[in-house]
Amino acid sequence: MIIADGLKGTDEALVPIQGDYVKEAKIGRAIMDADIFISLTHFKGHESTGFGGALKNIGMGCGSRAGKMEMHNSGKPNVDTDYCKSCGVCIKNCAHSAITFNENNKAGIDHNLCVGCGRCIGACNYDAVNPWGDQANDLLNYKIAEYTYAVVKERPHFHISLVVDVSPNCDCHSENDVPLVPNVGMFASFDPVALDVACADAVNGQPIISNSALARMKHTHNDHFTNLHPDTNWKSCIDHAVKIGLGNKEYELITIK
Ligand code: SF4
Ligand code: SF4
Repeated sequence: MIIADGLKGTDEALVPIQGDYVKEAKIGRAIMDADIFISLTHFKGHESTGFGGALKNIGMGCGSRAGKMEMHNSGKPNVDTDYCKSCGVCIKNCAHSAITFNENNKAGIDHNLCVGCGRCIGACNYDAVNPWGDQANDLLNYKIAEYTYAVVKERPHFHISLVVDVSPNCDCHSENDVPLVPNVGMFASFDPVALDVACADAVNGQPIISNSALARMKHTHNDHFTNLHPDTNWKSCIDHAVKIGLGNKEYELITIK
């Protein structure tokens, strides 16, 4: 295994792109040194991007430490103290020591320390942590699409996604939960955008596992991911990826058994 941006996360290549939000993507140097790019993704729900698929894995995963910060700093969450039960789970999950209890034993976030990673949003079981501003999650998705474009442009690339154990939140969470739906299988494509859409459609076609986090949510949308994380909109990433020429939403599914 090679850590693409080095042991300290500072070994990066600056990749110029003409994005709406990113002009110079900061990518782990070992990624950009490769002649061919092949991604292998665990497809799951995500508390900020709706789902974590190929685009999230490539864009965020290949960003150097500074690149990840650039994508994540689109928004920093706040705690709604009316909902906070003082359990302290968010404090344990914050790697930046940005959350403390106030004098009333309610959690609060220091935005000078917070990097906007969103981990506390998924960690709170009481929906007390909310993204800052309606645009934050969409901005994160737009930047992820542009970082993905910086990684795959101008070289051969191929992508594989495993739609198994579809957990509710990002794999970086220390906790896990019952899968949202039954396992579907392995998907692969030369187009990471079409791949993500095909995986999302496949998950949305599955029944909800009765004791999963999704079963406890209100089902106001015809979409498992939006019902699970109502503040997210995965389509903003897909639409932006199409707009910048990363791939297509349309796909032909060839089933191999
Ligand atoms: S995880 Fe939620 S309920 Fe628990 S302390 Fe943090 S904000 Fe409050
Ligand atoms: S978004 Fe990340 S850095 Fe900010 S308070 Fe939450 S867990 Fe900590």
